[in-house]
Parts: sequence; structure tokens; C-alpha cells
Amino acid sequence: MPEPRDISRQAFGALPDGTAVDLYTLTNTGGMSVSVMTYGGTLQSVRVRDRGGDVGHVLLGFGELAGYTGDAYRAASPFFGALIGRYGNRIADGRFTLDGETFRVPVNEPPNSLHGGDHGFDKAVWSAEEVRSGDSLGVRLSHTSPDGDAGYPGTLRVTVLYALDDGDRLSIDYSATTDKPTVVNLTNHAYWNLAGEGSGSVEDHLVQLDASRYTPVGPTHIPTGAIEPVADTPLDFRTFRAIGERLRDGFEQLARAGGYDHNWVLDRTGEPGLAVAARVREPSSGRELTVSTTEPAIQFYTGNFLDGTLYGTSGRQYRQGDGLALETQHFPDSPNHPHFPSTVLRPGETYRSTTVYAFSTGG
Ligand code: BGC
Repeated sequence: MPEPRDISRQAFGALPDGTAVDLYTLTNTGGMSVSVMTYGGTLQSVRVRDRGGDVGHVLLGFGELAGYTGDAYRAASPFFGALIGRYGNRIADGRFTLDGETFRVPVNEPPNSLHGGDHGFDKAVWSAEEVRSGDSLGVRLSHTSPDGDAGYPGTLRVTVLYALDDGDRLSIDYSATTDKPTVVNLTNHAYWNLAGEGSGSVEDHLVQLDASRYTPVGPTHIPTGAIEPVADTPLDFRTFRAIGERLRDGFEQLARAGGYDHNWVLDRTGEPGLAVAARVREPSSGRELTVSTTEPAIQFYTGNFLDGTLYGTSGRQYRQGDGLALETQHFPDSPNHPHFPSTVLRPGETYRSTTVYAFSTGG
């Protein structure tokens, strides 16, 4: 029996300054559900069937707002499920030059700026409206980041539409405009564990990335500027490989990052539009995830910095490697690498980006 399609809104607590936070839950006719909270535009929960039809949590997060605002979370700063802006990943030395002017952005991971700083889009309370279209239900979030916010130029008006359809596809559509030249690189920082949130390591997950090249990083995780082939390295995921298979090979890039935490350059055909970037299979549950995007790259991150200080939705501890992130993006530190695809947005232009997370059970 198909379940009724549904959008619900519930109060999800308040921030220390009294600002109320809401949680929207989208449920499709197959019983898959996605919850998004207005704080950080954060994906708080994704529940999806396994091969036996049992619905389970596959996203790392917390059952209560306090999980996202407490001291332990602030210290670990994992950005669980959050919208990331204005600039996903790192900007070297918290500095870039645009049209001859130098801008300084927060150095929250010395010596660099990470994910927009300590008060990025993941800390904003977004306005929300419900959207219904065909077999899809959604919540459209909006946020205006004022000129000079976290050091970035231009008033940036951002909307993000999360939508769930009856084919178990969760899509995220980002758009933004500015009134001054600026840089922008938006993404979502969901951590997945297809065996179930809190069930342990993702090392047995099989991953495939449609990418022949990546951008190696230096000692502080900033791209060196090179674009290198993945061939003959543990970063070669052109065919399905288990995450844990080559993690301990001693490859310098992996040792440096404590695991996988790199920007893969997608083998797009050159056609604009959605292209498959990544596929993940989890053998015990049979769950599969296919990530498609309009972006040129993807950050595949294996939760290397999860350190056991956080306890998630199910009450279980999150240790290193207990989740994986697939952050669709432009390349890290692009404003300081003119040969990388441009992240500049100018007045009159509209930034657009779409990523689709499609779930299935393969067997
Ligand atoms: C970065 C990691 C970082 C993580 C959590 C990822 O996008 O590449 O280095 O630790 O986000 O902030």
C-alpha cells in the first residue's frame, strides 16, 4: 500500500538568542522521508528502505537541535548535513583577490578559511516555504547574506530547494544573485552511512567516482594547483572499490588527510546539466546511492576528523570513518587558482547548481 505523500512542519526548539527553528519532513509514497531544519538549512535525517523493505536512518546527525548547537559540536565542527556558504571547502590564508581588490575571510582552520568560517550559512536560520509539484514535495529555503558578511563582498541572495520525489530522489537546487562581484561555492555537507547511522565504519562501502583526475593538496589541505591523474593511486575509484581497501597503503595524500578528503575532477562530457558523479553500494543492507550534479567536482571525505566526541541520532558514538561525505562543488581555493573553473559571480548573473541523491536497493 503506498503511503500518503506528506509535508509536515514541527517546532524544533530555539537558539540561545530565542530564534525559533522549524523542522520540515518530506515523506514520499514509498515511505522514504527527509527532514530539513531551518537552522543551517541542515538535512537532519534521511530515512530510506533497505533490501528487505525496512526503513532506516542513513544520515549522520542528531535527534535534537541541542546536538547541533552544543560545545562538543562546535569544537568538532563537522558541518553535519549543513548548507555550506559562502565558500565550500578552503580558501588559503583566508584571503583572495578579485578585480584587483583583496578580501579577507575568517581563518577558522588556521591558516585557512574552511566552509565560509565559523558563522557561515550553516549557522544561519533560513526562511522556509513548502513546495508541491507533481510527484515531488519540497521546502524552499532563502537567506540573504549582507554585503561584507564574513568578509565577502556583495549582498548575496540565496535560495535552496530541497525536494523529494516518489522515485526516492532527493534533489538540491541552489541559486544565488549578488549586487557586487563576489565568489561563491555552495554545497551540502551530508555524511552518509548506508548501513545505518551509528552502525560503525563505512570502510566496507563500495564507491565509484566518475573522475580520472584530482587536485592534490599540500600540508594544510590547500590544492597545490596541480591536476593529477588518479591512475595507479588509491584515489582511483573509476571502478567500484571498498573504501577501506587502500586506506592504509601509506600514499602520502591519504596519510596527510587522515583518509580520503580530496577534490575529484569529474569526467563530464562537456555538456551542461546533470551528470553522474558518484555511486555508493553498501553490501549488507543492499542500499545504493547515486549522486548526480551540475558541478565540475566532488569532495569525497571519509569522516577522518570524527573523533568520538559526538553521539548521533541513535545515541551511538561517531568515530573516525563512521560516515562519508560527497560534497559536489567547484574546486577548493579556486579564487587563488585562476586556471581552476571560475567561482566568480557578478551582478546580473545567477549562480545555479543542482545535485541529486538517488537511493535504490540493488540486492
Ligand atoms: C573537508 C574536511 C573537513 C570536513 C568537515 C570537508 O569538506 O574537506 O577537511 O574536515 O569538511 O569540516
